[in-house]
Amino acid sequence: MFNEERDSPQFDWNQLGDIIWGRPILGSRTTVMAYRLMQFTLRDAMIRHVGVELANRIFYEAGQQAGKAMYQQLAAPEDFTHFVQQLTDLLEEQSIGLLKVEKADLDNNRFTLTVAEDLDCSGLPESNEMLCTFDEGLLAGLFAAYLGDDFMVKETDCWCTGDRVCRFEVKPVKAP
Ligand SMILES: [Zn+2]
Repeated sequence: MFNEERDSPQFDWNQLGDIIWGRPILGSRTTVMAYRLMQFTLRDAMIRHVGVELANRIFYEAGQQAGKAMYQQLAAPEDFTHFVQQLTDLLEEQSIGLLKVEKADLDNNRFTLTVAEDLDCSGLPESNEMLCTFDEGLLAGLFAAYLGDDFMVKETDCWCTGDRVCRFEVKPVKAP
């Protein structure tokens, strides 16, 4: 799991740079192909060096860090609905995916979320692998930042396993 003291250097939003200044013609535009080409070749290289399990953990932890940084970009949420609304808008605006909350148990902080048209996996060939490890970490980081506890996120359905949305179970790390 991501540990703030141990893991340095720390990602800072400023590392993303001044995109409009640096890319006056192309701006923020990119393509899913460019993203997936980097993501899957990087994943392959990591697997060659450290194996699947550790590669997945690295993606998960990177996602957690991204989620925490992304949370800082949201306005302070007034309540859960406001948090979800901002998150849904941001994920759609950044073309990451179309988020829906399928179940929310606010007493126990357990949630089921779906992401349609997911940036990582929608349209990929079927396999037995749940591929959206970065997204698991991203959601874990976002929920941890909002609810102030450590969260664990597990993908239970994925495009790659034959479903047409990715489904994520979110729960506190210390939940039974
Ligand atoms: Zn997926």
